[in-house]
Amino acid sequence: MLDADFFRRWMTATAASVDREAERLTALDSPIGDADHGSNLQRGFAAVTAALKEESADTPGAVLILAGRRLISTVGGASGPLYGTLLRRTGKALGDDPEVSEEQLAQALRAGVDAVMTLGGAAPGDKTMIDALAPAVDALGESFAAARAAAEEGAVATIPLQARKGRASYVGERSIGHQDPGATSAALLIAGLVEAGGE
Ligand code: ADP
Ligand code: MG
Repeated sequence: MLDADFFRRWMTATAASVDREAERLTALDSPIGDADHGSNLQRGFAAVTAALKEESADTPGAVLILAGRRLISTVGGASGPLYGTLLRRTGKALGDDPEVSEEQLAQALRAGVDAVMTLGGAAPGDKTMIDALAPAVDALGESFAAARAAAEEGAVATIPLQARKGRASYVGERSIGHQDPGATSAALLIAGLVEAGGE
């Protein structure tokens, strides 16, 4: 079972890897975006880490709702509301349980990814974070490690795609040949589950 501490570790592990990879995320956002993805998420997840220290969040659901709210209020770019919605919706789906199963998390994260697709209008293949998140959710029933591998593969598989959503869609065919920054950061988020101590 996964308790609130596990979810806190998930968020702080993600904050640490976003910090480590911020320059790379911003570099990926240069040719097909506005070179702010790394700094956007670095600021957002630093605020999440601070919020989790300052405010009490006693259940898995409360941790994710707090984190999602902080991302929305601190990240100006498209990724803030999208990741914020992902975490808030996932947290809501977990409800008030003090501990949740891996299976509950898999189902809740699916609801979160569905909410991101509704908000952003992106489907798999549009070269967005969905290309990492959707295969990760599909693999989550198997194991966290399988979800991480699926997310990383999904991120790499965005390279040959042409962007159909978000800022990268503005450059049209010139988006082909570049890995999507949001799919790359989504793989960091999913990797955080393994780092938090999941199987
Ligand atoms: P902005 O595009 O506002 O500068 P960021 O650079 O922080 O925001 O984030 C860009 C990432 O957000 C993209 O690489 C993509 O993965 C994701 N993204 C953008 N628009 C959408 C959308 N409509 N649906 C899903 N993901 C999206
Ligand atoms: Mg950007």
